[in-house]
Amino acid sequence: MQWRIQQQQWTKKTEKFLVPSVQKAWIYKEYGAAKDVLQLDDGVPVPEVKEDQVLIKVCAAALNPVDFKRRQGKFKATDSPLPTVPGYDVAGIVIKVGSKVEGFKEGDEVYGDINEKALDNPKQYGSLGEYTAVEEKLVALKPKNLDFTQAASLPLAILTAYEGLERAGFGPGKSILVLGGAGGVGSLVIQLARKVFGASTIAATSSTGKLEFLKSLSTDISIDYTKQNFEELPEKYDVIYDAVGQCDKAVKAIKGGGSVVALTGAVTPPGFRFVVTSNGSVLSKLNPYLESGEIKPIIDPKGSFSFSQLVEAFSYLETCRATGKVVISPI
Ligand code: NDP
Repeated sequence: MQWRIQQQQWTKKTEKFLVPSVQKAWIYKEYGAAKDVLQLDDGVPVPEVKEDQVLIKVCAAALNPVDFKRRQGKFKATDSPLPTVPGYDVAGIVIKVGSKVEGFKEGDEVYGDINEKALDNPKQYGSLGEYTAVEEKLVALKPKNLDFTQAASLPLAILTAYEGLERAGFGPGKSILVLGGAGGVGSLVIQLARKVFGASTIAATSSTGKLEFLKSLSTDISIDYTKQNFEELPEKYDVIYDAVGQCDKAVKAIKGGGSVVALTGAVTPPGFRFVVTSNGSVLSKLNPYLESGEIKPIIDPKGSFSFSQLVEAFSYLETCRATGKVVISPI
């Protein structure tokens, strides 16, 4: 498929917004390392809006490990065809609505994860471009107190955190250990476990330099994995949320009848793994916690990366050392 098609730059005028036919977006035409395959292209078609979709003028996008794993070709069998505009997380402004869209109108500020199933035919036109089209059921109104950068940092990670806690049957009075507590997902698991699910005790692991960060998120027990093996400590937990890939060790630290949510790596029973489902209504349900400030978006201390710095941003994310989220803003 050829991106570059002869089209007039501006083709359609809506009441408030001009929708161009082509956009500037990051693309890759083959799988590989960020520096080898990513290109910024100003001739990428703006995706057509289906009847159940909204077209979003992207203001900010966040990166997730799934973006680089997909770009490395790990999900080739179920991926959309190349070339690909990467990106799952978006925050932006609705500039066009499909004929059957009822919940949103032009001008609405929204956020969401544009791929309902992370690994199952993710969209060819992702969020790392000026425009992306997404089903209305996958987005929610942006929390009023958050800017686009903050909102973009949330969807995939907070939906993963929430779905994993729900699937584990987590609830009031239960204890949890979060492996990878300083990462994009882990830092939200800690916050949701406390504020939404009513955890009794929250423990989390990180390297030495991030222990204070874990405490700032309200963990009761912060474990330095460079000095202690969590599975050898006396404390046992109702649920272990493993965002690192240590399920074999995690099963040794659960209470009888407890469970391990494994996001990545091999699964040891009774641990289980799931793949996140994007869902705008879950974001809407969590909006009050974000608007009240009880749950906070965490953006890596390096700050957001500019749109032109995508290769650097991926290189940083791929070190697996980010604190909270890596965000691309403004777009
Ligand atoms: P991040 O890149 O945000 O995680 C980085 C963090 O991991 C860093 O803060 C780092 O802290 C921490 N970390 C790395 N190694 C360890 C370790 N041995 N022990 C404790 N902490 C560690 O990743 P995400 O949180 O976004 O995702 C985590 C994993 O979950 C990824 O593999 C991702 O692909 C997967 N995932 C799966 C989903 C699913 O649906 N199944 C959905 C979302 C994510 P430090 O520097 O202190 O080591």
